[in-house]
Amino acid sequence: MKKNLIGLSFDELNAELVSIGEKPFRTKQLWHWLYHQGQTDFSQMTTLAKDFRAKLADLYTAEHPKIVTEQTSVDKTRKWLVEFADGKQVECVYIPEEDRGAVCISTQVGCAQGCKFCHTGTQKLMRNLTAGEIVGQFMTARDSYNEWPTPTDETRFLSNIVVMGMGEPLYNFDNLSKALKILMDGDGIGISKRKITVSTAGMADNIPALADLGVKLAVSLHAPNNEIRNRIMPINKKYPLEKIIAACKEYQRRCERRQYITMEYVMLKGINDTPECAKELMDLVKGLEVKFNLIPFHKWDGAPFEPSDKETIKKFSKILEDNWFAAPVRRSRGEDIMAACGQLKSAKGNKEA
Ligand code: SAH
Ligand code: SF4
Repeated sequence: MKKNLIGLSFDELNAELVSIGEKPFRTKQLWHWLYHQGQTDFSQMTTLAKDFRAKLADLYTAEHPKIVTEQTSVDKTRKWLVEFADGKQVECVYIPEEDRGAVCISTQVGCAQGCKFCHTGTQKLMRNLTAGEIVGQFMTARDSYNEWPTPTDETRFLSNIVVMGMGEPLYNFDNLSKALKILMDGDGIGISKRKITVSTAGMADNIPALADLGVKLAVSLHAPNNEIRNRIMPINKKYPLEKIIAACKEYQRRCERRQYITMEYVMLKGINDTPECAKELMDLVKGLEVKFNLIPFHKWDGAPFEPSDKETIKKFSKILEDNWFAAPVRRSRGEDIMAACGQLKSAKGNKEA
């Protein structure tokens, strides 16, 4: 199989070209074609010498993940099932706002964390995605919207990236950070670090390092104490709330500028949605600068929970807001195509490809 160049860092691409006897000055040109133009066909890279193009085509590919299915919701949310070279599949989603929007990308096929409320969690972890496969999802999204070459920041629709798809990103940290550096490169895809958010179920060891990458942090908190959290998130046994909160403090200490953390909180009926929970939650985050994001629970077939009532969610939000916390209730998007939070599931993830 030919090697895919997508996912190589600039230095690696340079080393690759040197290894086939090319001059290093060509790396920058090729980088531009790959990541600024989004060109997947070497023969179309018209500023490159003809013999160089032929050599590239001989040895490499620059393909983006293949779209297996594409669905667009009544609310314009778009979901893709994409497939990688080995046949493994993940889902990614575009969530449009007025004149911009976020692409939600995956970092693993399946997920080992097994959170009880999450559809992805019912699926075993098959494997980590490579840096190229993580970057490639965003490139495929750009293909789908014809958003090449990289538009200016102001004119692009695919403006933000949220790493909130399938898998636990901080258990695939090396590939994630390599991918983010490529996505952030100003001579290529050019998504600024302030427009990237990484969501974690609480793998505390790698939380502070997100500050060094400069990206935003979202924590799937979902419970105000260890007792409740242990029941719904197995990862809490290894990384209990004290460890997560300490890691969040370290993240904020390391951030260059003041950076709030988004605390995600899925509202589960009778489990974590009482006024006492809201109060306990506020005590828990003392000393941190946070915004809450209350997520209505999205039910899937066989899910062991019910969503909290609208009124209960409102009350919960009001308690937090009366105490000066931002606590909006997240608007549900793309529910008709199963594209909402925690509903992603790959078609072939469970089968051997
Ligand atoms: N593994 C990472 C990122 C992916 S999950 C994490 O857990 O943070 C993205 C968000 O959707 C998380 O906050 C997750 O807890 C939430 N989520 C999972 N299942 C959900 C469901 N059924 N309804 C609503 N939100 C859900
Ligand atoms: Fe994995 Fe996140 Fe789902 Fe938990 S919520 S099972 S960590 S994808």
